[in-house]
Amino acid sequence: MLNIAIIGAGPGGLALALRLQQKGFNPTIYEGAPELKPLGVGVDIKIYGVKEITEMGLLEEFQSISVEAIDSIFYTRYGQMIYGEKCGKHMGYPHEQRFVHRGDLQMMFYRAVLDRLGPNSVQLGKRCTGFEQNETGVTIHFEGLDGTKSSARHDVLIGADGIKSAVRNQLVPSSSASHYSGVAMWRGVTVMPPFRNGGTILHIGDPIAQGSMIVYPITNNVDGKGNQLVNWVVEQNGQPKSLEDWNQRMDQGEIAHNFDECKLDFVNVGEIIRNAREVYLYPLIDRDPLDQWSFDRVTLIGDAAHAMYPRGGNGLCQALVDARVLAEKLAEIDNPAEAFKAYEGVRREFANRLVIANRGEGPEVVRRIVEERSGGKPFDNIEDIFPIAECEKIFLEYHRMAGMQRPDDAGPLGFRDEGFFNEDRAKKAAVENDIAGAKGSARA
Ligand SMILES: Cc1cc2nc3c(=O)[nH]c(=O)nc-3n(C[C@H](O)[C@H](O)[C@H](O)COP(=O)(O)OP(=O)(O)OC[C@H]3O[C@@H](n4cnc5c(N)ncnc54)[C@H](O)[C@@H]3O)c2cc1C
Repeated sequence: MLNIAIIGAGPGGLALALRLQQKGFNPTIYEGAPELKPLGVGVDIKIYGVKEITEMGLLEEFQSISVEAIDSIFYTRYGQMIYGEKCGKHMGYPHEQRFVHRGDLQMMFYRAVLDRLGPNSVQLGKRCTGFEQNETGVTIHFEGLDGTKSSARHDVLIGADGIKSAVRNQLVPSSSASHYSGVAMWRGVTVMPPFRNGGTILHIGDPIAQGSMIVYPITNNVDGKGNQLVNWVVEQNGQPKSLEDWNQRMDQGEIAHNFDECKLDFVNVGEIIRNAREVYLYPLIDRDPLDQWSFDRVTLIGDAAHAMYPRGGNGLCQALVDARVLAEKLAEIDNPAEAFKAYEGVRREFANRLVIANRGEGPEVVRRIVEERSGGKPFDNIEDIFPIAECEKIFLEYHRMAGMQRPDDAGPLGFRDEGFFNEDRAKKAAVENDIAGAKGSARA
C-alpha cells in the first residue's frame, strides 16, 4: 500500500487523512506545532463543506459544535436593510450551512484521525524544512522545536502546510511572496445573548468609505447560560500591512466606536466590538494562483495550493473538496504521479478562479452600490435607489460562480422585509427543500 506523508495537521491535512482512510490508506501527518490547540476564530462552512463533513461520517458531531446559518442580511452603516437571503436548507439546498470556531472544527477532525488511524498517525513537533524526491520516493526533513533534526522516507508527499507552505515554497520559490489587498482585518469573538433567530450573519457598512463589519454566531450556549460565542470581522482600507500571523492579539481601541451609528433594533453593534473576549489583527492577504500543484511524487492541497482571502468561508471548504478528490484519484490510479495530475486537473482551475474572484467584492458590492447612490446618507426607500431585482441578480450570479447555484425554483429567495422571515416560513421552506433535494432540483 502507498506510504503517504501529509505535511500539516490543519483542517485540510486532517480531512485528507480521513478521506484517505476511507479509501483504505494509512497516511502519516507531520505537524510543526508541538501541540494542536483550537486556534483561530470563526469560519463559515458552506453547503458543499457540510456535504463533505457528512460524507466523512461527522455530521452529528459537527452539528453539536457549530451553529446553523438561517439567514444572511446586508445593512448600511446606519442599520438600514439592503437585502437578505436564506441560507442552507432554508434556501432550498439539500445541506445546511453552518458557522463554527475554526479551532473546534480542527479538533473534531483531529479526534477522528486519532480514533480511526491510531495515535501514531499524527507526529507533532515535526516542522518540515525540505525534501528530495527520486523515482522511488521522497525523503522529508524535519526540525523539532529544540532544533533536533530528523528525516523520513515515504512513497509520496502532500503539502497541507497552509498559506506559508514550506513544501510549496520549495516547489515554486516565487510563490512565497504574499499579495496584500491594502485591507486590515480585525477579527474578534464576543460572548453575548443570541440575536434575531440565533443563526443570522450580518453584513454592515460599506467596504470603501467607512469600513465594513461581518457578524455571526459560532457556538451555542458557550457559557452554560444560553449565550452564544459571536464571531466578528471588521475590514478597514488603506492600512499598513501588519504581521502575517493568524494569532496577533490586539486591543479593539482603534475600532471601538466605528459602528456606533448603526442602529439595529435587535442588537447593539458597537457593544459587540467593545465587549469582545479576544481580538486579532490580520492583513487581508493571499498568494497568486499557481500554474502547477503536482510535481511527480509531491502535490499540494488547501491553503498551500490556493491561499485565498479568508472571506466567505471558501478557503476551508475548498480544502475539504481537495481532500476528497485527491483521495479518490489515489484510490483509482495506481501511478501516484498520474493520480496527482488527475487531482490537479479536477481542482486547480476552479480553485484559482475563486482566489481571483475573492479579490473582488463578491456580493458585498451591494453595500458599496447603496453607499454611492445614497451619497452616504440614510435613504427613504431602498427600492428608489436599488431595486430588489437588480440586487437579486448580483446574488444569483455570485452563487453560480461559487458552484452553489441558488435553487430559486421554489420562488424568489431574497427579501427586504424583516417580517418576511419568521420561524413558520423557515420550517415550511425546510420541508419544501427536502422535496427539492429528493427531486434533485437543488443544485449543491
Ligand atoms: C492558527 C490559524 C488560525 C486561523 N484562523 C482562521 C480564522 O479565524 N478564520 C478563517 O477564515 N481562517 C483561518 N485560518 C485559515 C484557515 O484555517 C484555512 O484557510 C483553512 O483551514 C485551510 O486549511 P489548511 O489545512 O490548508 O491550512 P491551515 O489551517 O493553515 O493549516 C496548516 C497546518 O500546517 C502546519 N504547518 C505549517 N507549516 C508547517 C511545516 N513547515 N511543517 C509542518 N507543519 C506545518 C500549521 O501549523 C497548521 O497546523 C487560520 C489558520 C491558522 C493556521
